[in-house]
Amino acid sequence: MKKDYYEILGISRTATAAEIKKAYRKKAIEYHPDKNPGDKAAEEKFKEAAEAYEILSDPDKRARYDQFGHDAFQGAGGFGGGHHMNMEDIFSQFGDIFGDIFGGGFSSQGRSYSRQSTVRSRGSDLRVKLKITLEDIIKGGEKKIKIKRRVKAPGTSYTTCHQCGGSGRISRITNTIFGRMQTTGTCNVCGGTGQILQSRGNGSDAQGMITKEDVVSINLPKGVRNGVQLRVGGKGNEAPGTNGIPGDLIVQLIEQSDDKFKREGNNLHYDLYISMPEAVLGTDKIIETPHGKIKLHLEPGTQSGKILRLKNKGVPDLDGYGTGDMLINVNIWVPKKLDKEQKEFFKKHFNHPNFQPNPGKSEKSFFEKIHDMFS
Ligand code: ZN
Repeated sequence: MKKDYYEILGISRTATAAEIKKAYRKKAIEYHPDKNPGDKAAEEKFKEAAEAYEILSDPDKRARYDQFGHDAFQGAGGFGGGHHMNMEDIFSQFGDIFGDIFGGGFSSQGRSYSRQSTVRSRGSDLRVKLKITLEDIIKGGEKKIKIKRRVKAPGTSYTTCHQCGGSGRISRITNTIFGRMQTTGTCNVCGGTGQILQSRGNGSDAQGMITKEDVVSINLPKGVRNGVQLRVGGKGNEAPGTNGIPGDLIVQLIEQSDDKFKREGNNLHYDLYISMPEAVLGTDKIIETPHGKIKLHLEPGTQSGKILRLKNKGVPDLDGYGTGDMLINVNIWVPKKLDKEQKEFFKKHFNHPNFQPNPGKSEKSFFEKIHDMFS
């Protein structure tokens, strides 16, 4: 059973046109979808009220309704009533219904929409991955990236949209049962850009765009780590038209692991292997690091497991809090194969006290060394 239109609006059958309008406003505000998001029951009441108002505000339709009820608008001979009113139809009534409440902004004559800025379309963001080495991370600086982005093809030209005059918005004046009404919305011809394609450049798509290879240079901050994203404004895909703004280029950094140096936070670990004679007699070693060549001096009698700490030779902190250290772990390489003469040498000294392990107090344990490093 369809509800009675007078009941829906809560008015008597003798209500005046002004009373009908007032009652509808009240219902429309009460059940407005903006005030009742996701509420299906409210939406239904909102539609019901709009339908009731459409019939009762029209003297002819009201007279038919009064005589025949809902049957007046059913079937082939019917008026078509308010049965196919959609939300857009309902909102387009509001220029009339709420015009005087909201300061007459909707329907007053000569209101200019030129103040409204053109809807500037924005191109999409472009995402790329960039592999970076430990040296890149330590030194930072400029990196060049090859990208493929959507740009306007050479020869593509645009002209001001004839429909909206370049504003991207259109206001329509329509004559309805409520009188003249003005509504505004995005221009359907240009899609809100205010421009339409005049000619397409060579090899371009329907929007006059091509995919072009480009080289973008980025400034890599020192101390970055895996997964960090750098945003380069305006280096993404362009938007069609000349008013649009390009999207951004988002560079995701992929940190490559280093063969020699293991990164732990801002510290770097390096395994140094020295021979037994070097450990016994002492030696100077030169190692290649991302900071350049570094000379290490090892005293005679250097023990395996010794850790040398080189201050500030690690990774610079991304937030500028100094630089980490380089920790050199000394390993003594024990030969796996010996010739006869070498075997004789070791056998000769096998029981000599100088070859017997004697850590004593001066040799710190591994855990003590680690503790000293970080305290
Ligand atoms: Zn337009």
